[in-house]
Amino acid sequence: MEEQQQSLDNLTLSQTLPLSQESFRQLWENVATSMSLPGGAPAEETWHSDSVEMMLLNEPSFSAGFDENLFNLPDVSVKDGITPPASTVPVTSDYPGDYDFRLQFQKSGTAKSVTSTYSEILNKLYCQLDKTNPVEVLVGKEPPAGAVLRATAVYKKTEHVAEVVRRCPHHQNEEATAENRSHLIRVEGSERALYHEDIHTKRQSVTVPYEPPQLGSEMTTILLKFMCNSSCMGGMNRRPILTILTLETPEGHVLGRRCFEVRVCACPGRDRKTEEENHGKAKTEAKPIKKRKSAPAPDPSSFKRTKSASSAEEDDKETFVLHVRGKERFEMLKKINDGLELLDKEKAKTKSSNKEPLPLPSSGKRLLRKEERSESD
Ligand SMILES: [Zn+2]
Repeated sequence: MEEQQQSLDNLTLSQTLPLSQESFRQLWENVATSMSLPGGAPAEETWHSDSVEMMLLNEPSFSAGFDENLFNLPDVSVKDGITPPASTVPVTSDYPGDYDFRLQFQKSGTAKSVTSTYSEILNKLYCQLDKTNPVEVLVGKEPPAGAVLRATAVYKKTEHVAEVVRRCPHHQNEEATAENRSHLIRVEGSERALYHEDIHTKRQSVTVPYEPPQLGSEMTTILLKFMCNSSCMGGMNRRPILTILTLETPEGHVLGRRCFEVRVCACPGRDRKTEEENHGKAKTEAKPIKKRKSAPAPDPSSFKRTKSASSAEEDDKETFVLHVRGKERFEMLKKINDGLELLDKEKAKTKSSNKEPLPLPSSGKRLLRKEERSESD
C-alpha cells in the first residue's frame, strides 16, 4: 500500500500534454467528468483498478490534464492485486514453473538450543520469535531481470484461510512507530525489502529483489523472521500457518511458488521432534483411528474414540478424548463441555426422575486435563 502510494505521489497529473494526445485528452476529460466521485463504483468499472480511483480521489487537480503515464499504472495494481486466484484465497500448491523454483533449508537438527529448524518430513519450519531463518532459494535457470521473491503468510485451515495473518496487538504495540509493525513475516539483511498490503484483500507480504547466487554458490539465501508466536492471542491464536514464497516478475506474475508450514514457538527443536515422532507413529500404526490421533501439529485438535465402560442405557455414551493445545483453549472447551453436560443432566432430570445423573462429566473432565498436561506449549 505504502509503496503504491509512493508511486502514485510521483505522478504528475497536471503536466502538459503533447498535441498528439489531444483526442485522448478529450476522452479522458469526458470520462473524468462523467464519473461520480468519490462514489467510486463507476471509476472502478471504467478502469478496473482501485489504484486509479484512489489517485483520482487524492489528486484535487485530477481533471486538469491527462497524464499518459496513467496507463502504466495497472502494473502497480497488478503487483499488489496479483493474479486472480491470489486476490481472494492465496494458492498454496507448489509450482516449480519454468524456472524450477525450489527451496532448501539448512539442516539444524532438533537440539534444545536450536532457534530454527526445518522438518523435511512435515515440510514445516519451526522457529523462535524474531529469530533468523535462512531460506535457500534455487532456480534451474536465471529468472527475468527485476524478478522478486515474495513471502506471504496464510492460515492453513480452510476455516481460517479467509482471515488475514497479522501480528497480535501486543507485539504490534511493541513496535508502535514502525510502518510494518503488523507484518508477521520480515526479511532481514536487505535494504530492498518492501512491505506490501494488498488493497483488495488486505493481505500482507514482503518482497525482495531476486539476486542470482554468488559466484561459486548455486543458491541464494534470504533471511526470514516471524514476529509473533503461533500461540499469540489476538494474532495467530494457535492456528497453523503456511508461508508462501513466490518468484515473480516485476509485474507480479508468478513464475514459481513454494509453500511450507511454520510454527513459531519457544522450543523449535523439541516441537519438531515430537511432531515428527507422532507423524512416524501415524504412518506405522494400522488403525485409521489412531492415525488421526497422532496427526502432526497442523491439526492440533484430534479425536480418539474409546468405548465408555459405564454406558448401557443410552445410545450416545461413547467417550471421546480431545487433544487440546494450550491451557486457555482447554479451559474454554472445558467450559463448553461442562455446559453441555449440565444441559444433559437437566434434560435427564425433567425426562424421568428415576434416572441417575450421567457419569460422563467427571470422566470427560479428567481425560481432558490429562491430555492438556502432556502437551506443554
Ligand atoms: Zn504476538
